[in-house]
Order: sequence, then structure tokens, then C-alpha cells
Amino acid sequence: MNFPSAENFRSLLADLAESGVGPIRFDEPLANHCSWRIGGPADALVEPCDAAHVAEVVRLARKHAIPLLVIGQGTNLLYDDAGLRGVVLKIGARLSRVEIAGNGITAGAGIWVPHLARLAARAGLSGLEHTIGIPGTLGGLLAMNGGSFRRAVGDNLLRVWTINRAGEQEVLTREQCGFGYRRSALQNSGAIVVRSELELAPGDPRQMRKDMLADLRERRRKFPRKREPNCGSVFLSTAEMHATVGPPGRIIEEAGLKGTRIGGAEISCRHANFIINRGGATCRDVLSLIDLVRRTVRERIGFEMRCEVRYVKPNGEITPADRGADALSPG
Ligand SMILES: Cc1cc2nc3c(=O)[nH]c(=O)nc-3n(C[C@H](O)[C@H](O)[C@H](O)COP(=O)(O)OP(=O)(O)OC[C@H]3O[C@@H](n4cnc5c(N)ncnc54)[C@H](O)[C@@H]3O)c2cc1C
Repeated sequence: MNFPSAENFRSLLADLAESGVGPIRFDEPLANHCSWRIGGPADALVEPCDAAHVAEVVRLARKHAIPLLVIGQGTNLLYDDAGLRGVVLKIGARLSRVEIAGNGITAGAGIWVPHLARLAARAGLSGLEHTIGIPGTLGGLLAMNGGSFRRAVGDNLLRVWTINRAGEQEVLTREQCGFGYRRSALQNSGAIVVRSELELAPGDPRQMRKDMLADLRERRRKFPRKREPNCGSVFLSTAEMHATVGPPGRIIEEAGLKGTRIGGAEISCRHANFIINRGGATCRDVLSLIDLVRRTVRERIGFEMRCEVRYVKPNGEITPADRGADALSPG
């Protein structure tokens, strides 16, 4: 996608202001919307409070040919140092209403996932315990089909209410979401999740609480500390990879890269599949480190490491971060 003209952008802002979709923040530092604390300014950021506002922002961005980037809490995103020439649509706490009926939970896409997992367990509904340690929104989790312990949120999805890129509402079934390992058709179609219905099973609240506390303890033991900004696992860790070459953390550690630093970005000494921001890390530092890992592993064992983390170009295109890293390498 090309960069928008200043005139198109001015017309969009005028329309957005008139439509009352909510406060618009200008030159908003994307580092404030990303767990890595990295990223330059976005031209504008809007945080809608209902599906109608989401649809309106989509329609207006399309009308004026302005790139639109949809984000949750930015816990799986690496923004460019140049930021974004377009509008960020943040689906967050303002879209987080929850209803529980029978074995079903219907929740707004902006709900904080660990909070949802706790609500479900308290209501005696099992199926989301594996998400207790995943810091992000339900919309982001569905787009990524995230989860842990070889589980994924898509396993429990019944249907999802979305706004498509024409600004129309569409209800999709689990099959239509095309879930795979840490991917979904939502990523490619650009459908924006506004609400979803999950089907859970009856469970014992005390046992679920015990399991979730054990998971959180294990994460605290293995993962970088809270004060070390990171984006979770950088590289994909598929079952096939485990069976052939092993988990990414071990591969990186065996390649002798634990603790390697470029600029302010460092491969965590606690878990080598995490890159932490030691202070002042740039997007370029992180991409260079990803490139270094991929080249070293390729030379050592001939394996192509792929990224779970997604890189956002200044024109709003999102790609797996390994593609962003490839673009740095002359060869
Ligand atoms: C410490 C730590 C631990 C983590 N552990 C795990 C883990 O165990 N398992 C796991 O799977 N992930 C894990 N992650 C990664 C991350 O938390 C998840 O991918 C999370 O689900 C992303 O949610 P988000 O709201 O931050 O999405 P973002 O990072 O904001 O966005 C991720 C993708 O989803 C899209 N998106 C966001 N919201 C919507 C929406 N409403 N509709 C459509 N598309 C949308 C974005 O465009 C983007 O492509 C971890 C991250 C951290 C920092």
C-alpha cells in the first residue's frame, strides 16, 4: 500500500471528528501501545467503544484511502521506528462487555484475556485456563489463535462478530475463521473482531484456580521478568519443529546466542526465545537480532526459524517479523 497524501489525511480527520467515533490522538507514540515499548509515532489513534464506531472508522479510512492498523494491546507486535502513516484502530477496554449464560461466554474483543480466564473459572466454566498468562485482548488472541500447552483459543470458539474491510458486520463460524497453529484467516481477510462467543465445559472452580496459579508460577520462573519489556515468544514453536529439531529456545541456546545484544535489544538469558528491551531498543535492533538468530541457526542445523511476532511496516502492512528481518539483510 502507498503512503496517503496529506490532503486525504486531512479530509479523513475532518470526517472522523464529525462522526463522533471518540477522541482522536495525534502523533501517538506506538511504543505506548506495545509490550516491547518500541515504535515511532502513528499519525492518529482511535479507540472506539462499540461496533458501529469500528465500522464507521473502517468506512472512512477506506473512503479516503488511508491505511488502517487494528491492534489490541500490542503484545505480539513490533512497530517500525518510523511509526505509522495512517490510523490505528485500538480495540481495548472500551469494548469489553461480558455475558455468561449456561456453558457459553460472549465477550467484547477488547477484554483482557487473563481477566476473562478468571471470570470463566469463577463461573465454573473450563476451557480458558491455558490463557491465564497471556497478556493481550481476546480479539488479538483470536487473530493469532493463541494459547498454551498445545491448546488454542479457536478450540472453544462458537462464532465471532466481525467488521469486514468494507465496514459491514459479518458473523463467522469457527470453520470460517480458518484456525491453524498461531494463525487464522482473520489475519489475512482483515476482519476486525468486535465480539465472540465461546463454548466452555463445566469445571471445578477450585481446581481451575489451582491449575492457573501453577501456570503463572511456572511462567514467572521461566520467562523474563516483568520489568524486562518483551513480546513473548519471538519464534514459532510448532509440534513438528519439536519433533525434528527441538523447541526454539533450546536451538537458540545451543547456537550460543543467549545474552547476545544488538543496540538495546538482547536475547534473554532466562529464556532464549524471548528478546528483551534493555532500554532504548529500536525496531531495527530487534529485527537485526532476529536476522542474526535465523542466519546462525540456518548455518548450524539448516533449519528455517519463523517468527510468531508480527512486524508492522510504516504503511500498516503486517508480516511475520522474519520477513521484516530479511529485508535488512542484503543477501
Ligand atoms: C510475556 C508474554 C507472554 C506471552 N505468552 C503467550 C502464550 O503463552 N501464548 C500465545 O499464544 N501468545 C503469547 N504471547 C503473545 C501475545 O500476548 C498474544 O499473541 C496475544 O493474544 C496478542 O493480543 P493483543 O491484544 O496484544 O494483540 P496485538 O499484539 O495488538 O495484535 C496481534 C495481531 O492481532 C490482530 N488483532 C488485534 N486485535 C484484533 C481484533 N479485534 N480483530 C482482528 N484482529 C486483531 C492485530 O492486527 C495483529 O495482527 C505472550 C506475550 C507476552 C508479552
